[in-house]
Parts: sequence; C-alpha cells; structure tokens
Amino acid sequence: MSASDIHTTPSASRTGPAPAPSAARRKGPARRVHTLVIGSGLAGLAAAIRFLRQGWDDFLVLDRGHGVGGTWRDNTYPGAACDVPSHLYSYSFALNPGWSRSFSPQPEIQAYIEKVARRHRVHDRHVFDCEVLSARWQGEDEGWHVETSQGAFAATVLVGAFGALCEPALPDIPGIETFAGDIHHSARWNHDTDLTGKRVAVVGTGASAIQIVPAIAPRVAELQVHQRTAPWVMPRLDRPYSRAERLACRFVPFYQRALRSGIYWAHEAQAIALAKVPGLLKPVELLARAKLRQEVRDPALRRRLRPDYRLGCKRILLSNTYYPTFNLDHVRLVTAGITQIREKSLVTADGVEHPTDVIVFATGFHVTDSPMYRRIFGKDGRSLADVFDTVGRKCYKGTAIAGFPNMFLLVGPNTGLGHNSMIFMIEAQVNYLVGALTLMKRQGLRTVEVREPAQEAYYRSVQEELSRSVWNTGGCASWYLDKHGANTTMWPGFSYTFRRITRTFDADAYHISR
Ligand code: NAP
Repeated sequence: MSASDIHTTPSASRTGPAPAPSAARRKGPARRVHTLVIGSGLAGLAAAIRFLRQGWDDFLVLDRGHGVGGTWRDNTYPGAACDVPSHLYSYSFALNPGWSRSFSPQPEIQAYIEKVARRHRVHDRHVFDCEVLSARWQGEDEGWHVETSQGAFAATVLVGAFGALCEPALPDIPGIETFAGDIHHSARWNHDTDLTGKRVAVVGTGASAIQIVPAIAPRVAELQVHQRTAPWVMPRLDRPYSRAERLACRFVPFYQRALRSGIYWAHEAQAIALAKVPGLLKPVELLARAKLRQEVRDPALRRRLRPDYRLGCKRILLSNTYYPTFNLDHVRLVTAGITQIREKSLVTADGVEHPTDVIVFATGFHVTDSPMYRRIFGKDGRSLADVFDTVGRKCYKGTAIAGFPNMFLLVGPNTGLGHNSMIFMIEAQVNYLVGALTLMKRQGLRTVEVREPAQEAYYRSVQEELSRSVWNTGGCASWYLDKHGANTTMWPGFSYTFRRITRTFDADAYHISR
C-alpha cells in the first residue's frame, strides 16, 4: 500500500477495490426516506435498532464500508483490542455473557457488533459500499439531498453518525510519496504484507501504536518506534473469563448487570480527577513511573520514555507488554523526529538515516477536521467545515448545529470520554434523537433547528467546565484541541450528566416550523 491508498474506502484493501464513485453511481430520481443515517458504526447501528423498536422503518443507513462496525470493522491491526472492559463496552440492550476476557480483542468486538445487527434484522435498512459525496439542505419542502457513490437520496432528517475516529491522518513529512516499501496506517492495515524478517518503522506512540508494537515485535527483523511525545502507560488488568464466570453472566439473574454497574461506577469516579481536580492524578503518576522503572532495564531509555506532562492530558494507555518490548535487542526508540522519508529509509533531525522496509503510521485520525465536514452544506449553502472554521466547533449537546435544520450528529463535538464507555454516550444521544423525531412525527413538524443563543450558551458552559480539566491544563498538545485551541472533543465530566441533559428533547432550544 502506498501513502495515497490510505484514504481509500475502509476495508477495500482486504476485500477488493472500492467502487469508483462515478462508475458505481446510479442515475435516476433520488430515493426518498424520512431519515438518512450516515455511518453504521456503533452509533449508526444503535440508531437503526432504536428506530425499528419505535416501529419506524422509513429510514436507511449508508456506509462506505462493506458491513457494519465502523471503527471496529476498520481497525484490524495486529494487537487491536479495547481498553474499556468488555462488559461495559457493549450496548445496554444487548449484553454479551460470552465475552472471553476482561478486555476484548477487535475480532470479538466486531463479531459482537455483527451479531447484534443480525439479531435486530437491520441489514435490509443498510446500503453498503455507499460513500456520501455531499449532503445539501434544500429548504423546508425538500429537506436533505444526498449525493452518494450509489446515486442520490432525499430525506427529511439527516443523522451524521460518521464518527470521530474514522478518517486516517498521515503526517506531512517531505518525501512520503517516494517511499518504495509498504505503508500501513493502523486503521487501514494491509493484511497482504508479511512483516516477517522486515525492518519496520512504527510512527506514533498513541493507543493504537502501543498495541501494535508488542504484537509485531516478535516477527520483525528490526523495529524502530518513532516517538514524538511519550505516553503515560498504566497496567492493563486483562484476564480470560472462566467458564463459571461466563455461565454466571448467562444464568444468574442480575449478575451481569451488577458487574457492569460496578465497572461503570468505578470508571465514572475517574472523571473527578480528569475533569474537576487534576491534582488528584499526581499519585497515579507515581504508580506509572514505578511501572516504567520495573519494566525497562536501561535508565537512559527510561528517561526518554518518561512523559513530561500531567497524566491524563492525553489518553491514558493500558499495556503490560509495551515497555518490555524495548528491552529486546532489535527494538529501538527513536525520538529525534522524522524530517524526511526516502525511497528505502527514514531520516531524523539528528541526520541519521534509518533503513526501512515497511512504515506503520499509527498517527491517529482527522477528528476536529473530519473530511465529512466539507461535504455537508446547511441553510445558507455554507459547509460545516466553513462554519466550524469561522465560529469554532460549536454544537448543542454534541448533536445539533445552528444553520443545519433537521440534522443531528451522533458522537459530535464535546461528547468524547477519557474515562468511560463511549457506548453509554451514544445511547444517550440516540435517546435525544428519538425524542426529537417523535416530536416531529407526532406534531407534524417540518423543521427543527437549534437556536443560536442556546447553542452559544451551551458551548460557553462546556468550555468553562473544561477550563479546569487535565485535558486543558495538563501541559500537552493533543487532538482534543481544535485549531482555535478550544477543547471541542471531550465531555467535561460525568457521563451520567450527559445522559441527564439528553433524557428528553428540549424543544424550547429550537426553532420549529410546522
Ligand atoms: P493518536 O492518539 O492520535 O496518536 C497518534 C500518535 O501519532 C501520537 O503519538 C502522535 O504524537 C503521533 N504522531 C503524529 N504525527 C507524528 C509525526 N509526524 N511524527 C511522530 N509521531 C507522530 O491515535 P491512535 O493511537 O490511533 O488513537 C486514537 C484514539 O483511538 C485513541 O485516543 C482512542 O480513543 C482510540 N483507540 C482506542 C483503542 C482502544 O483500546 N479502545 C485503541 C486504539 C485507539 P503526539 O502525541 O506528539 O501528537
């Protein structure tokens, strides 16, 4: 795979080329539905299932991939697994007594998502291999017009469930296009490449990289890990579940619910330190430092692996195998910074040339600058990207945006968590969305559009809350901050507070037309 292939349709490299948008496009009138959902990850799927439970079937879910799963479908890199406990990282309406271990590997999570989709019979409501090219608000009569690689769709309501961690980001390093070897991105793994005996460079040391590095180290000839900022790494309390535990989850009344609640509240408590009183994180840093001392033999190497910002400012990583990997003779930590990529090597700022056969970019995603923002056009013809560029990523309850009537985002701005399960946030948002649609259907509303003052007041209160958080004060640069320096990614506190504010649809905050 070359650098330009990284942005192809997800999973294309595994199951054949994606249809070229122009070739696959069907001519003819737009296919009309009441609600069109973009994306069939955990959020889009939760919405689809909830719609069917409401008795609504006048909707479609479009996804550019070959099946459900979104981020979990696309992230198939070696070692991919969840760092939120399995019993919590599942839908509240579809608990899974069969989880094999406390932190599930990606194939098990993907199998779970597919099973839930099958059980709730949502497949015939999906259009796969369908890339959304543009979505335009056409006015009250026509609603949304959506152009896709499979023709045009029209809808009264548009639901953007395209997620935050979906569009791979590659660093802007000179010469990247000249590299002759294979290039992987963590979210577009090329399973046709065998890494055995190869000289591999992993770029990045975030949540994806720390899973990839120990997973590939045993089979490569040489491994360079290019670190720009050292991550904080904590123990991963992972273990297989015994048969007795799985049986208890299946047959003992309330056992699994109680287990899940316990895990939820233990995680929820962490919001106090992360969002309210970051000073509480200092003792935890001592634990993380002790772990580093215990797991890395060389003191000079330990110094380079030690973070220089407050724990929690970036996502806290969980691994028992990442640090020990650096004790292997063929694994090198490189901190000089990559300045150039050549045909068969990477060059760092200290002038050293590192011969390389394969580059693995574990360099994250376009989160605050999602390409989808350039494809959605609101009431005055401006794109979401244009609006966000001018006023910032302001979004009411992570869901509604002034100027974009009848549009609802799932996992929108300021809904991210550093301490708990995103599925909890997703279900809260879906609930809010269903509240809005119920009102629209019952009262025959033509449009709902959030009022600007409500959006502005909400944004200010969220930013005010965040100003105390470790994400804003911890002394690191992270993708939680947008190009204006505002934290438009994280939810500032307890996830149950978000659930409370999204419990009912607050029509007062909206312009409504009948
Ligand atoms: P990420 O957290 O954005 O990390 C990207 C890494 O690439 C960072 O270490 C970054 O360094 C580095 N980087 C970027 N440009 C670079 C350059 N030019 N040279 C060297 N390094 C460069 O991305 P991610 O690891 O894919 O994780 C993204 C999110 O996905 C996570 O925060 C998490 O929410 C989710 N995730 C979850 C799991 C899970 O277990 N549930 C697993 C994987 C991912 P800097 O730190 O200096 O920017």
